[in-house]
Amino acid sequence: MAATVIDGKAVAASVRERVRGEVEELTDELGRPPGLATVLVGDDPASAIYVRRKHEAAEEAGIRNFDHKPAGSISQEELLDLVNDLNDNDEVDGILVQLPLPEQIDADAIVNSIDGAKDVDGLTPVSAGLLARGEPGLVPATPQGIMELISSVGVDPEGKEAVIVGRSNLVGRPLFSLLLGANATVTVCHSRTRDLGEVCRRAEILVAAAGQPKLVTGDMIRPGATVIDVGTNRTDDGLVGDVDFDAAKEVAGAITPVPGGVGPMTIAMLLVNTVTAARLRHKAAATSGR
Ligand code: NAD
Repeated sequence: MAATVIDGKAVAASVRERVRGEVEELTDELGRPPGLATVLVGDDPASAIYVRRKHEAAEEAGIRNFDHKPAGSISQEELLDLVNDLNDNDEVDGILVQLPLPEQIDADAIVNSIDGAKDVDGLTPVSAGLLARGEPGLVPATPQGIMELISSVGVDPEGKEAVIVGRSNLVGRPLFSLLLGANATVTVCHSRTRDLGEVCRRAEILVAAAGQPKLVTGDMIRPGATVIDVGTNRTDDGLVGDVDFDAAKEVAGAITPVPGGVGPMTIAMLLVNTVTAARLRHKAAATSGR
């Protein structure tokens, strides 16, 4: 039987609807809308599109945008100053520095300078450490969205064999912690994994995040598995995922398409993180008597 195709756009729309309600409540509570600052350095067209989509989604949810577009020639010091100003701005709840940054900039130093309480990308060592320890904090949007997609088809990771292909700080590693936190038995594969097919065939939940077009073939899928394809590879055949979708959907129980699967969730979860950050900051200010 062919797999259920998971509609990431529909799941993302329902998350965005939920966020809109929460933003309304929060705006009353705070006396201002939650604020999201974006920093887009230079004029990379792909980055400009991503940031524009994030602005549109934030605006639609009632979140206030703080839009910063410094020139590509900005110095490390000037960019650090900008991030520090945003750290100090009380109306800004979330800060997102769009990557990649120009080569004169030390991207890690910039990301690490973001106040942990405003780290809506979840990429600072503080956020990564909290997640690895299983403590509450801000979680990167893509892996968080993947967890929503898995639960959208009624799959509970508890006790299941989960396999992740890819160990990046953006997807594989944080997803490992999330699936482990949801009590799955998790294996992480990477470029040095010896027999990828054999490991993938164990997976009741299989997440492909390697950035290799059609790396995961139909024969690597366990019958009935939930398959989440994170890959976005631009090829001569257009945008393709890391999974051979046509073959995989004949074996899997549920599968995400590319495009229309994980992608739409990433922006929706950024909005969720902005609301979470605003709430946590508000709570912290209330308890510190500010
Ligand atoms: P990355 O390049 O940082 O990491 C890729 C990982 O895959 C590495 O850990 C590497 O060891 C592993 N890998 C590479 N080739 C492999 C192979 N042949 N076998 C096993 N493992 C292999 O990539 P990333 O930032 O994690 O992104 C992965 C993919 O997901 C990319 O296509 C990216 O565009 C996409 N992505 C999509 C979204 C979205 O919102 N849709 C968000 C983030 C990333």
